[in-house]
Order: sequence, then C-alpha cells, then structure tokens
Amino acid sequence: MILSITPLSGLVFFLFLVIIILSVYLINKLQTVAGLRDTVAGLAKTVQNLDHQAKLIIKSDIELKLYQEEVEDKLNKLTLLKNLIISSIHILDKEQLYSQIDDKIINDLGFKKGLIFNFDDLYVKANVGFLDHDLEIIKNSLTHKRNVLKGNFLFDAEADICKDLINGGIGQDVLIASIKARENVYAVLLLSERIAAGGIKIAEKEIITIICMYLGQCLDNIKLFEELYRTKDELEKKIKERTNELVKSLREIEVVSRAKSDFVSSVSHELRTPLTSVKGFSSLLVEEKFGKLPPEAKERLKKIDENVNKLVDMVNTLLDISRIESGRMEIKIAPCDIVKVIKETSDFLSPQLHAKEIKFNLDVPEALSVYMDKNLIERVLINLINNAIKFTPKAGMITISCKQEGLKCVVSVSDTGFGIEEENLEKIFQEFFRVDNPINREMRGTGLGLSLVKRIIENHKEKTWVASKVGSGTTFYFTLKLSENV
Ligand code: ADP
Repeated sequence: MILSITPLSGLVFFLFLVIIILSVYLINKLQTVAGLRDTVAGLAKTVQNLDHQAKLIIKSDIELKLYQEEVEDKLNKLTLLKNLIISSIHILDKEQLYSQIDDKIINDLGFKKGLIFNFDDLYVKANVGFLDHDLEIIKNSLTHKRNVLKGNFLFDAEADICKDLINGGIGQDVLIASIKARENVYAVLLLSERIAAGGIKIAEKEIITIICMYLGQCLDNIKLFEELYRTKDELEKKIKERTNELVKSLREIEVVSRAKSDFVSSVSHELRTPLTSVKGFSSLLVEEKFGKLPPEAKERLKKIDENVNKLVDMVNTLLDISRIESGRMEIKIAPCDIVKVIKETSDFLSPQLHAKEIKFNLDVPEALSVYMDKNLIERVLINLINNAIKFTPKAGMITISCKQEGLKCVVSVSDTGFGIEEENLEKIFQEFFRVDNPINREMRGTGLGLSLVKRIIENHKEKTWVASKVGSGTTFYFTLKLSENV
C-alpha cells in the first residue's frame, strides 16, 4: 500500500514536532528554575551566617574595647598606688600621711568625694568635697555602727551601713573601707559620687582595699615608731635620773671619803707627836740610857719598842694614804733608771732575805729609764718585797723582773709562798684587809701596805694587779711609762 502524505497530515506532524520540542524545552527550564531556587536558598543561608559572624565580630570588638578600658583603668589605679607608696613610704607622722590623700587621689580612685576619719573618735583627717552638713550626717550615722567596720575591709553601696548614708543624702555610690592592720582599725575611708557611670567594678574595689591595707600598715608602723620613740625617751629620762642619782651618791661618797681621810689624817697627826715621844723614851730605855734594867724589864721594854716601831710605821702609812687620797701628797715624776732602784731596794732588804735563806733572782736589763717618783716607787718595791719575804717559807725563792712591753715597763715581784685564794685577790688591796691565815695570825701587820702600793701606782696613772695560785706562789705586777730617753 502506498501511503500518500497529504498537506494536512504534514501540518499535524509539524505541530506534533513543535509540541515535543517545546515540552523538552519547558522541562529543561523547569529544571533550571529548581536549581536556581536551591542556589538562592543556599545564598540566603550564607548571608544569614555572615550576618551572625558580623554580629559576633561586633560583639567581641565591643568586649575588647571594654576590656582594654578596664586594663587601662587598672593600670592607672596601679600607678596611683605606686605614686602613693613612693610619696609616703618614709613618712613617720600620721598627719603628714593623711595629707597625701588629696583630691587627685580621690578622683583617680574614680570618685568625686572622699573622706578619711579616725576610727576611735570619727575625727576628720582628710576631706575632699564633703560639706559640713554631710559630715554631720556621716558622724550621726556611724557613731553607733563603727564596730561593723571591724568585720570587713570594704562595704559597697549594697551594704546597710552605706545604704543608710545614701538615704541620708550624702550622695550616690557610697563605699566605705576600713584602714586597718593587725586587727587594729586605725581609720576609715569613705568615698561617694562615682565620676564614671555604672557600678563600682571588682578591680576598683580590690585597688581601694589594697590602698587601705597599705595605709593601715603605714599607720601601724607609725604607731610602733611612736612607741619606740616614747620608750627611748623614757629610757633616756630614766638614765638621766639614775646618772643624776649616781652623781649625787658619788658626791656624797666623795664628801664621806674626804671626811674619812681628814679624820685619819688628823688622828694620825695627833698620834704622831705622843708616839714620837714614846718611841724616844722606849729606845732610850732599851738602850739602858737611864740606867741598867733587870733582864725581865728589858725583855718587855724591847717588845714595847718593837710595837711602838710598828705603830709609828702604821701612822706614817695612814698619813701617806690620806695625803694621796686628798691629793696633798707631793709627787715628783721624772725619768729615772728603775733597774738601779730595784737593785738598791733588794740590797737594802737582803738581811731579811738571808735570815730566811730565801733564794733571790733578778731578771732585769742593764738599765731601763721610766717616769716615776723615785721615793714612792722605792716604797712600792719595799712593800712588795717585804710581803714576799713574809709569806714565803724558809729556803723559798723570790724573783724580781722588769721588762719592756711596748711603751711600758712591767715590774713583777714573784714568790714561792703559799699563795692567795681567788676570792681574796681583789680584797687584798682594800685598806686594813688581811687574809685570815696562820702567818697573818702569827705575824702582825697593818693591812695597809698593798693599799698604799695601789694608790702610789694610780698616782702615776698606771696599773697594779696580782696573780696567785694557792700552794705555788704569788706575783704582783705594776706598770710604769718608759721615758723618751730609753
Ligand atoms: P699586811 O702585809 O700588813 O697584812 P698588806 O696590805 O701588805 O698588809 O697585805 C694585805 C694582805 O695581802 C696580807 O695580809 C696577806 O694576806 C696578803 N698578801 C700580800 N702579799 C702577799 C704575798 N706575797 N703572798 C701571800 N699573801 C700576800
């Protein structure tokens, strides 16, 4: 069969083709629109995300700015603290310390008004901006509530104690800090009217607390310093009083001592005249110048004569001691060879040395020139050698030495006698002191010899001392000044 294509069927076919092409195109467009819709939704989400991010950035920027401001504020307050410490660390006066709290410090702390008052009597010590009327309100409000301040360092506007003041009309943002150390509340800092808006920050409170703690420590130091100063003052006063008492006692002792010297001197003088006459008669009697005596009477008279000699000695020594004490003894110090004097004195005493068979040693240089009163040093040597002979047993040994030590000459008289107990070493130089021992009980003595020795050496402005060991012996030392022509 042959299909014949008519013009109509050709048109239908054409239309059908067009419809198919259009349908394909439409489907394609619809797909594109759906894709675009997804893209738009995605873009909307991205925009939303970006918006969120932007908001976050703005927020952190604000926070950063605030943080930066806070850090700057803290730094300013730390500088304030540093400056306050530098200007007040050496202050030892309360008023001067309070005067450091001026309007600059109060403003730097962030407040318009500031006040410091004593804790005990609420007496105002520093005031920036408060009127008399405000002070009256503060005083009335705090008088009975001061003990609350002992409990804490800082009270902000929320604390009852501050609320009362705010209600009383002394301003907003009242803050009270106690200035204390070691549980002692010394003063109170009251701040009011913040310069910047907003509440008081924690960091600000901390700085205010630190400043108050520092001021408390300063006041504590000042208190301790004042106490120390007072104690020092009292001590000085007491020392002065005691010194005056001592000077007074010393004067009294001097008066008594002078009276004693005068008494001893006048008694010795009074005794010397009759004694000289008794001595004269006893000597003449012993020498039988008034006729022969029966042996018994002669023996007794001899004893009387010996004792009179001792009495004369004693009276002379007493007179010398009182003369030295009262400064009436004429002393002629001049350069002189001490070795020569030692030799002469020992020669003079050699009969007594021989009598007791005592070995005698001289440990002296050829010659040694010293400043001395020859007669007085002779008496010193006689006294020391006599004592050595007296307290050294038969066949013992006595050594006299004389050595140059620096600018001094040290003379010593040693014996091998029975020594002196430790507790008596100081006492033997006192007048009339004699150690209670068998020799002293047997042989009479005056107890004045060493006292005279000490005074003579003191008059030369030199020293005397003794070293002794019971059972071994005793050594007496004295010094003299070497003369220039040594
Ligand atoms: P006196 O010899 O007249 O007793 P002193 O003043 O010379 O007085 O001496 C005081 C005392 O010191 C003596 O009684 C004696 O006890 C003691 N004394 C002094 N020299 C010696 C010595 N060389 N050895 C032991 N004792 C001594």
